[in-house]
Amino acid sequence: MAEQPGTLLYYLKRSTEFLEKKEIPNPRVDAEWILADLLNLPRIKLYSQFEMPLSQKEIDLYRERIVERSKRKPVAYITGKKGFHQFEYLVSENVLIPRPETEELVDYLYKQRETLANEFPNGLEIWDLCSGSGCIGLSLSLLLKPNLVVLSDISEKAIETSKSNAEKYNLTNVKFYVSSLDKTLPSEMQFDVIVSNPPYIPESEKKDIMPDVLDYEPHLALFVSDIVSFHRDLFNSVKQRLKPGGWFLMETHPNYIQELETLAVSLGFVSTNRILDSSKKERFLFLKTESKSES
Ligand code: GLN
Repeated sequence: MAEQPGTLLYYLKRSTEFLEKKEIPNPRVDAEWILADLLNLPRIKLYSQFEMPLSQKEIDLYRERIVERSKRKPVAYITGKKGFHQFEYLVSENVLIPRPETEELVDYLYKQRETLANEFPNGLEIWDLCSGSGCIGLSLSLLLKPNLVVLSDISEKAIETSKSNAEKYNLTNVKFYVSSLDKTLPSEMQFDVIVSNPPYIPESEKKDIMPDVLDYEPHLALFVSDIVSFHRDLFNSVKQRLKPGGWFLMETHPNYIQELETLAVSLGFVSTNRILDSSKKERFLFLKTESKSES
C-alpha cells in the first residue's frame, strides 16, 4: 500500500530517498534517528505512528535537518546527543562524538568492579584525561560510584559540554579542569585510576578519514603530529599522578600500541597489557604503576 502524502511515513521515505541519492551510507536509519529526535519519540515508536500527519513546522525542520545530513553532518551533531553505554550524552561540534570502542573501555572497567573494590577499598579517585564530552569519566562515575572523578581537557568549550552532561545526571562528585595534560590540576592531586581516549590519529592518516569526521569533528580531539612524543608527555603526567599500584587504561591506535607499550615500560610502568576491541584489534593499553609492597 502506498503511503499517504503528508504522513510521517511519507516524509520518512522521501528523506531516505534523498539521503540515498546523496550517497549517505545508512539513509533509512539516519532519516529515522533525525525524525525521532524531532518528534521527541524513541526511534522504535515511529513504526506505530506511520499514519500520523506532520505539521508544517515539523516538515520544515525535518527538511532542514535532512539537508544538513546530506552535507555529511553527523547525526549526533544534528540531534545534539549520542547514546553511550547505558547513558545518553549531549554533544556539540566542540567535542568528539563518543565511539563504540570507547564504550568497551568503560565496560572493561565496569566488569572489573569487584577487583577495583578490593584493590582500592577506600573508594576510587578517577581522572579522565582528554575528557571531551565526559562520556568516559561520567559513565564511570555513574557505574562505579567513585569518591571523585576529575575531567580535564585542553578545550574550554569541551569542558563546558561535559559540565552540562554532569548536570544532566546530577553528578556532584566531579571536578573540571581546562588543562593541557595535568598542568592546571592541583599539585597534590593523585588518582587510583586514570582513563584516557586521547587524540591518536597521525596527521598522515588525515587523507583516509571520511568527510563526516574530517569536516565536522574537532581535529584537536582526533589528530596528533607526533604520536610518540605526545604519548611520552602523556605517560609522564599519568605516572606522576597515579598512586602506587594505580591503573591506567587508554584507548589508542592499534598500529602504534606495541611501540607505545615499550615506551611506557621504559618510563617505569610495571605491568602492561594490550586489550582487544570487539573487532579483534589491539585498541586498549592497560598499564599499572608499582604497588607499595613491590617498592
Ligand atoms: N574522552 C572523550 C571520548 O572518548 C573525548 C576524547 C577526545 O577528545 N580525544 O569521546
